[in-house]
Amino acid sequence: MSGQVEVRCRCGEVRGIVTGPSPQTVNRVVCYCDDCQAYAHQLGRADLLNAKGGSDIVQFAPNTLSFTRGQDRIAGLRLTPKGLYRWYATCCNTPVGNTLGPAIPFVGIPVQCFDAARPDDVFGAPRCEIFGKYAVGDPPAGSTGMNLSLMLRAIGKVIGWRLSGKTWPHPFFARGTGAPIYASTVISQERREELRALCGPHPTAQDRS
Ligand SMILES: [Zn+2]
Ligand SMILES: [Zn+2]
Repeated sequence: MSGQVEVRCRCGEVRGIVTGPSPQTVNRVVCYCDDCQAYAHQLGRADLLNAKGGSDIVQFAPNTLSFTRGQDRIAGLRLTPKGLYRWYATCCNTPVGNTLGPAIPFVGIPVQCFDAARPDDVFGAPRCEIFGKYAVGDPPAGSTGMNLSLMLRAIGKVIGWRLSGKTWPHPFFARGTGAPIYASTVISQERREELRALCGPHPTAQDRS
């Protein structure tokens, strides 16, 4: 499958296009890490997590994503001062891109945030499940170990995107300065701890939303 797929926030204010997605050009993994869980809870979007708290994330080259509307609604959230930039649509708290800085070029978006009726056809099925030790309840089979070949594949993809010039134009960073295009905030240590109680493996609190 080639062509393009639309990224769309839940309310439709923020939209973008990813060009040329295919199982070969993307990484798709289900991540159970407690940062991804905390982020969904912070946004009030636990609906994006699977029953065990997993986020089904598609990672692709930065220059294949461009926003077509609602850019003024994009803001960033960081769980720690040096953590990932987690960009989201402020209109409806939909994640629209997890990134590091442009030196490590990739963008990750939950699969539900694409307008794809059959995401497995567009991106392939998830290749693995990772950080299962944070999964709510028992970890899914095969999610707690290290899958070296898949890890190398993911790293290789990012290096390849960097070397083949797929960083720029970057949807979240300015060429030249490398500075973020959108404002972002870092949540407080206190809030981070509160969020931890909502996450696996054994949540001790429940979302109020
Ligand atoms: Zn929205
Ligand atoms: Zn994660």
